[in-house]
Amino acid sequence: MTDTTTKYIFVTGGVSSSLGKGIIAASLAKLLQAQGYRTTIQKLDPYINIDPGTLNPYEHGECYVTDDGAETDLDLGHYERFLNVPTSQANNVTTGRIYQSVIDKERRGEFLGKTVQVIPHITDEIKHRIQILGKSGDYDIVLTEIGGTVGDIESLPYVEAVRQLKWEMGNKNALVIHLTLIPYLTAAGELKTKPTQHSVKTLMESGVQADVLVCRTEHELSDGIRTKLARFCNVKREAVIQSIDASTIYDVPNMMLEERLDKVVLNQLQLESRTPDLTSWNNFLVKLKNPKSVVVVGLIGKYVELQDSYKSILEALIHAGANNEVKVKVVSIHSEFLNSSNVSSKISYLDGVVVAPGFGERGIEGKIEAIRYVRENKIPFFGICLGMQMAVIEYSRNVLGLHKANSSEMDKKTPFPVIDLMEAQKQVTHKGGTMRLGSWKCNLVEDSQAASIYNQISIMERHRHRYELNNDFRQQIENSGMKATGFNPETGLVEIVEISNHPWFIGVQYHPEYKSTVANPHPLFSAFVKAALNYKTQK
Ligand code: GLN
Repeated sequence: MTDTTTKYIFVTGGVSSSLGKGIIAASLAKLLQAQGYRTTIQKLDPYINIDPGTLNPYEHGECYVTDDGAETDLDLGHYERFLNVPTSQANNVTTGRIYQSVIDKERRGEFLGKTVQVIPHITDEIKHRIQILGKSGDYDIVLTEIGGTVGDIESLPYVEAVRQLKWEMGNKNALVIHLTLIPYLTAAGELKTKPTQHSVKTLMESGVQADVLVCRTEHELSDGIRTKLARFCNVKREAVIQSIDASTIYDVPNMMLEERLDKVVLNQLQLESRTPDLTSWNNFLVKLKNPKSVVVVGLIGKYVELQDSYKSILEALIHAGANNEVKVKVVSIHSEFLNSSNVSSKISYLDGVVVAPGFGERGIEGKIEAIRYVRENKIPFFGICLGMQMAVIEYSRNVLGLHKANSSEMDKKTPFPVIDLMEAQKQVTHKGGTMRLGSWKCNLVEDSQAASIYNQISIMERHRHRYELNNDFRQQIENSGMKATGFNPETGLVEIVEISNHPWFIGVQYHPEYKSTVANPHPLFSAFVKAALNYKTQK
């Protein structure tokens, strides 16, 4: 049965990838949420991987993890950061997952001898997935972002599903926003509408008429251009929305408000348009744009060439900066090229260092070298997942004297596997979706730095790892000064380590960055930025 109680907004992309569909979807959702509509966003990804969990960050940027342990597209991170509402597995669906469920059904004989085909079986599964969130009754409006660009072969079943749903739901319940690019030709000194005309036509070839055009542009769209786009693309004049390059993604909701995107959408969906309450959002923006000082933080990782690899960490630092009224300038440092002879020149001037998550051996010695430097020189240090594991290894090698201490992920034969495979992981053979994933409880040790930062003694944080601090070495490590201050209550796994005779040295086995939002900057990131500021003022 088609859902006609929830309103659906589909966001497709044309002309080029990387136009920022996720940010436009999140910004519109923010405006609708700020008018009292219960809103969520989902992303449909047309690739064949079951989820992005097995993708190298160079392929697809960071893998974002939800509370329920789904490994998802990084756009879900934007959705949560903008809306401050948790997403789940239902918010991200790939072609691989769609096909997997259809093929599983076929094997169970559920198609009763029918030939299983892209239309209707794959498209029905897509339609079903699109409506799961709407049918839950938890939302008034569901935004669905279709990954890729119209005209791609792999996007076709999704566009067909949208065509069918729009027909079944009617224009007052379903609407299509097409995000497109209006290039500027410097030689001609002109903005060009032709690529958009073609892209809208491509969409029409699949039977889908865009209702709203959001036009990415580097220059203001003139009245003439807007009128021309409306005329050639069959959209109302007011439904041609300009999306000009912004200095921060957090400006986009206000820019869309100014362009009246929310009004155009609500009008077609026959919903009342109200004045959005963006008070706390705008307070954040005021703080973000009026920093009282600057700190320089090094982000040490092995995927630093690609900003998207550490998206949530970078955004969490922005939230924390705004919270402290400090501009956080992030310097990316490639761990593969860090060594004992250059570490001082690359790190000594920093006000704080974050060592990033990661997998595999590449670049780990550079991370360890950096951690030794910040530990000895008392520069604030924040280690996340692999970053925490490397802090334990560094400490074991250089303070405990356990030479060649390592993680068994990197060196199976290490005499001192201070980081070792979790018991529950030992039987795992499949790579996809089998890590320790999602939200787990963590109890904090009273009087620890962690407990005072969180201001509570029991927290929930999201995980994505197979290895952990080896409890056989815990006593030895703690005796020499590095304390375990957060534990999983059921398994006794160590989730946090800290060093007390250091201004700020904390490593966490989980990923706090996934939970930092504009409305709720993460306490650890906030405290870290504050420590960096203190360090800077005292040095
Ligand atoms: N590779 C490490 C593990 O699997 C750390 C993972 C991570 O940083 N997300 O435990």
